[in-house]
Amino acid sequence: MTNSDTNALLRSIPATDVLLNAPWAAEFSGRLGREQVKKIIAEALGEIRRELCGDVRVSLPVDELVVSRATSLLRLRASSTLKSVVNATGVVIHTNLGRAPLADEALAAVNAIAGTYSTLEYSPEQGGRGGRNEHVEWSLCRMTGAEAALVVNNNAAAVLLALSATASGREVIVSSGELVEIGDSFRIPEILSFSGAKMRAVGCTNSTRTQDYRDAITENTAVLLKVHPSNYRIEGFVKSTSREELAELASERGLIFMEDLGSGLLCPLGVAFANRERSVRECLEAGSGIVTFSGDKLLGGPQIGVIAGSKNLIDKMKKHQLLRALRADKMTLAAFDATLRLYLAGRQGEIPVIRMIETDKSALLEQARRLCRILKRGAAQRGAGDFAVSVVETEDAIGGGSFPTDMLPGFGVGIRSACFSAETLAAGLRTAPVPVIPAIREGCVILHVRTLLTGDEQLIASAFLKFFMPAKPALPAARA
Ligand SMILES: *Cc1c(COP(=O)(O)O)cnc(C)c1O
Repeated sequence: MTNSDTNALLRSIPATDVLLNAPWAAEFSGRLGREQVKKIIAEALGEIRRELCGDVRVSLPVDELVVSRATSLLRLRASSTLKSVVNATGVVIHTNLGRAPLADEALAAVNAIAGTYSTLEYSPEQGGRGGRNEHVEWSLCRMTGAEAALVVNNNAAAVLLALSATASGREVIVSSGELVEIGDSFRIPEILSFSGAKMRAVGCTNSTRTQDYRDAITENTAVLLKVHPSNYRIEGFVKSTSREELAELASERGLIFMEDLGSGLLCPLGVAFANRERSVRECLEAGSGIVTFSGDKLLGGPQIGVIAGSKNLIDKMKKHQLLRALRADKMTLAAFDATLRLYLAGRQGEIPVIRMIETDKSALLEQARRLCRILKRGAAQRGAGDFAVSVVETEDAIGGGSFPTDMLPGFGVGIRSACFSAETLAAGLRTAPVPVIPAIREGCVILHVRTLLTGDEQLIASAFLKFFMPAKPALPAARA
């Protein structure tokens, strides 16, 4: 392409103000505001100009290209990128998909509090100031047996506050085998250094004995820290120190024994392997002075971090300046309070995460058969004979760092196509108006049913049927 060709093409690009008044653009003003629409059109035009100058071959006439680019950018910016999806991965606590979906009662509690003024930090009885922590402390103590409890933004914040309040400027002894990175970049050495504590790592990756901790204690030691390795498991010869031994050593030497549990198991689960994990109550009974855990993992509530344990230590944390920066929001507290109340009432089976973990194989099989029938019927109605849809066995996971090597046997629906690769099919499902996130196994798209919520089957069916729709015309009818 010669320079004069390029210049001619560049000149043929309409002015932003002209495009702004076109019907296809005006339609977005209601949602984005005219000023934003203008900026977005200008952004699209800039992109096209750069391509033309950079000698990119354009396949459409310039005016069509302009409309097509500008409308897709407008459509993208006009919709929220934070939206609900169908989790068909079979991973119950999926951090990238927002961990625990809330129970109905927790949703109702958020709804009741979010649009009104509330008693967040107000006591109607005293006509004055109350504490936001008080709304959940009693329930937490009842469910865990702790003397006191404090909530913050998430478990990373809980560990940070607990260490800052108890070990700043002093030493914290931790096993080398527990210095693992958890999930999205939670690293104990970094958190320890933020808290102002000095880390003393003892033992080897696969072996730490009580004597190693004992030998490392100095007059400057404040805390013995045990960290749940969560998403990590060392196989083979492994020697770690029990919490009972560490608790005894800590009490003998006047130190604090703190445990980062990660997942807060509040009561036994109806799955055999899950009960290898100690509950929060058992850890406290075994002698942990302070435990920290997340609200949105096994507990099944909103994103929150809990610090539970002895009253004198928790009191210190309640007075710490850092708490002001880490405090939980009212909607979170409302959801957490409602979730804890389900536990208190023995109704934890209504919490989606617990229900999904405890669903038995026969119920899953029945659900997979139903989904399979829905999809087969849809495919048949559209005359699409090139899809093979069948019920398959699956391996589901609890996720969220719990039980990384244990699988829950489940069922799902496998989809193969003669025309589309599994990757193409999966990408199609993911880009549906309500994205469906499947798994892929051996060239087959798998929809695990364990993690589906009410209404998800219909959403999957409409995402799946998108594949049989005739291709839409690439351009909107109206033009500038
Ligand atoms: C998940 C986890 C964390 C981080 O918790 P967040 O609530 O995501 O901040 C910290 N420690 C352990 C052991 C964990 O499993």
